[in-house]
Amino acid sequence: MYYCLQIEFELGGHLLLKSILKLNLKKLIVLLALSASLALLTVSFYSTYKVQKEQLINYTLKANFAYASKLASATDNFLYSAQQQLEYSAHTLEKNINNKALLKSEVERLNLQTDSFNSVIISIGGVVAASSPVFANMIGKKLESAASLAAYAAKKPLISNPFVSFANNLVIFISQPIFDEKGVYLGYIGGTLYLKETNILSKLLKQHYYEGGSFIYVVDEGRRILFHPDESLIGTRLARNPMLDAVTAGETGAQPITNNSNIEMLAGYAPIKRANWGVIAQRPVSATLSSVSDQVMAIIWHTLPSALIIFILVGIFAHYISRPLKQLADKVALLNDVDTAESVNKVSAWYFESKRLKGAMLKGANTVQLQMGQLRNEALLDPLTGAQNRRSLNLALENLVLNTTEFTILTIDIDHFKRINDNFGHDIGDKTLYQAVKVIEGMSRKDDIVARVGGEEFMLILPNQNRDSAIVIAERLRIRIANTSFETIGNITVSIGIAHWPFHGDDINSVFKCADKALYQAKSNGRNCCVLSPAVLNE
Ligand code: GH3
Ligand code: MG
Ligand code: MG
Repeated sequence: MYYCLQIEFELGGHLLLKSILKLNLKKLIVLLALSASLALLTVSFYSTYKVQKEQLINYTLKANFAYASKLASATDNFLYSAQQQLEYSAHTLEKNINNKALLKSEVERLNLQTDSFNSVIISIGGVVAASSPVFANMIGKKLESAASLAAYAAKKPLISNPFVSFANNLVIFISQPIFDEKGVYLGYIGGTLYLKETNILSKLLKQHYYEGGSFIYVVDEGRRILFHPDESLIGTRLARNPMLDAVTAGETGAQPITNNSNIEMLAGYAPIKRANWGVIAQRPVSATLSSVSDQVMAIIWHTLPSALIIFILVGIFAHYISRPLKQLADKVALLNDVDTAESVNKVSAWYFESKRLKGAMLKGANTVQLQMGQLRNEALLDPLTGAQNRRSLNLALENLVLNTTEFTILTIDIDHFKRINDNFGHDIGDKTLYQAVKVIEGMSRKDDIVARVGGEEFMLILPNQNRDSAIVIAERLRIRIANTSFETIGNITVSIGIAHWPFHGDDINSVFKCADKALYQAKSNGRNCCVLSPAVLNE
């Protein structure tokens, strides 16, 4: 049972597949339209995607570049103002370097009045003269960090690279030299920025719109990170790449790059020239392009309903285009049917090709019918006289028997026909046969059948005639022939044998035999006479 079901199922599937695969014009049109529109949609979706992608990449690169430049100039301004604040204090202090209270109030003012620095320090002769906040035991101590020594040695405004301060903070140091009135170098006043804590710089850099994976970071000339949204990275050194090389060399620009974690980024960069730092604003390519896929999906969803409507319309059109051709194709195999021409004529052929096909098929159907008619005539008629031949006579008689229509047979034989041939030639004999048939046909009614059954022997079948009336008709015919003037030869006579179905036998052949015998009798009686077969003959 299970196997039977499975086989049936497989057979059903096979048939379904076969009917799907059976191509016709309608399926082809639908298929063509479908594949053309799919190809067109794919191409347009793809080009939309490409254009949008390029636009977004360009836009993001420009936006990142603009943002990096803006931040770089803002940071530059901040550094400039920090340096100016320190310079102002340095000038204030040059005449009052020994005024400890002034030194103290100056560092406190710088530290507390603004957010510019996390701590402020004054170093005179290499030792701490004042600091804010006050670190325990620091006043009077010699400063030995590399940055302090560099600031002291520089004798000019300086912005340090990041370093770890004595209080264990990652800092940068902005310093301004202090000279006395005579221009003798005394030391410096400097402010620190804790890179991992809040200050004006970090506030400035954090005012960034961190959406869609975009972020900014700042590096120094040694590629150490000064600012990064991921604070754990601050202070770490980045590997070289063309963009970092460019920005630390003071160049501006925007370019796609692959970062150290192998992520494709769209980066814009600009240098902070005052400190030899670089600002980089970047966004992952994937985040930038995610909206493109959304857009293309939105376009696809918006296109689907119209595509569906178009597809249905194509199906309807395909139906109307293929219908006349399908109808004509169905009729092609039936060209020999009598009513094909009529049904072809009913096909509504509404466009050029179908009209031409319909015309050709009508012509073909008519020709076939005509030729078949000719063939039929040739098969059923005697070619010399146009009377029916033996075969069609038999068919007609079988039909009468089948319908139990009584009929009388007149077997007509021309007397001494051999002599006509002998005296006038075979052609004249043929013409006489032809003319004799015309005389017989001229005397017969619509339902009568005239047939040539031998060389100069004919049969006239009279349906629905009893023997008595048949004898009258036979006699009339005999006289008519005898009185007819035949071309060239003049007059001829005929002898006629008469038999009746079913009176002379249920079987047609026995009726034929009766008629033959009656004819023989007529010849024996001296010809030019009619003889009705006597009652049923004994064999
Ligand atoms: P009877 O009165 O006894 O019927 O004599 P008959 O000469 O008519 O009969 P017979 O059977 O002796 O001769 C028939 C002749 O008909 C012989 C043949 O040459 C001729 N005949 C048969 N078929 C054709 C035909 O198609 N054309 C022509 N011209 N003659 C034919
Ligand atoms: Mg004969
Ligand atoms: Mg004869």
